[in-house]
Amino acid sequence: MTGTLAERWRAARPKPAGVHLDSGACSRQGFAAIDAAAQHARHEAEVGGYVALEAAAPVLDAGRAAVAALTGLAPTDVIFTTGANHALDLLLASWDGDRSVACLVGEYGPNLALMAANGFRVSPLPVDEHGRLDIDAAAEVLARERPGLVHLTPLGSHRGLAQPLRPLAEVCRDLGLPLVVDAAQALGHLDCTVAPHAIYSSSRKWLAGPRGVGVLALHPDFAAMLRPRFPPSEPSAPLTVLQQLAHGESNAAARVGFSVAIGEHLATGDEDVRARLAEVGRLTREVMADVAGWRVVEPVDEPTAITTLVPTDGADPHRVRAWLIDERRIVTTACDARRAPHELTVPVLRLSPHVDVTPDELELTAAALSDAATG
Ligand SMILES: *Cc1c(COP(=O)(O)O)cnc(C)c1O
Repeated sequence: MTGTLAERWRAARPKPAGVHLDSGACSRQGFAAIDAAAQHARHEAEVGGYVALEAAAPVLDAGRAAVAALTGLAPTDVIFTTGANHALDLLLASWDGDRSVACLVGEYGPNLALMAANGFRVSPLPVDEHGRLDIDAAAEVLARERPGLVHLTPLGSHRGLAQPLRPLAEVCRDLGLPLVVDAAQALGHLDCTVAPHAIYSSSRKWLAGPRGVGVLALHPDFAAMLRPRFPPSEPSAPLTVLQQLAHGESNAAARVGFSVAIGEHLATGDEDVRARLAEVGRLTREVMADVAGWRVVEPVDEPTAITTLVPTDGADPHRVRAWLIDERRIVTTACDARRAPHELTVPVLRLSPHVDVTPDELELTAAALSDAATG
């Protein structure tokens, strides 16, 4: 295929029925991933689900290898899950050490709920006025408090701020503290090749795979510290920690689709995609800077494609989101405070275009936001 990265990405998937600015929730899948998943479902009907699964092993192995390439871990360190939350829950439930975790003040709300549900004490990592990790202060706090786990979400759902993942990974390595990374928004978006102790993500966001799939990658030294509760590893039929964690029924077709999507991402070029997403973020913030009634939260050149808008004139992001879909076919996200209960005070409107967004689409959105105020 020829053309720019943006043109190729757009040509590789169905035409959008409007303007899609919702990749932080769910990107648009490509033909290859959709077809691969459909073909696997067909194959299940022809030869049987378990026979089809064996035949799909090379594709799924390639998917694991692609996750390994994006995380700095090994293909054999990667298992599929049903999503990011599922991966974190598996990990926390299996943790055998001290049940304390240090994380950002702006940690994702459902992650905080999972930490609480698994009996973890949560302590905040120091941040600056934007909510960005203060790495020097964090190193001091971590050296003093030595929590059982350090958890970082390098890119949140509620704010397009890129957190200093690599410096924190170095601090944790120096201190001998396990670092767990929520890469639901970061994989395929920011450089995650830091080989952390654990890293997990979703398929459907920036990697543009199907819904209902995720991954968890565990460094072997960290995996050896986990004690999965289920299923038991019997002496007669011993299971590895990863085999225990990977146990259970799964949507193989969706995993096949994800494996194809992440392979496509690597073929496009992770670095090129990341550079383009940074450019898209800057463009989005520049266009939205002048929209009356909204304030852009992120610094204009933050290297992410997530832009959040705070209403300054009383607009309700949930109502505006619905109006944009109904009246203009523009898909955005309304993020309520539950996404980051210790950092978000009011709901925000999130724009998360992928690499293919055009300046026209952004101008159209800016105009629509102005109209929404009176419409
Ligand atoms: C979307 C999201 C999750 C949850 O992902 P699922 O795959 O839906 O479980 C976790 N963390 C962050 C930062 C997210 O944006």
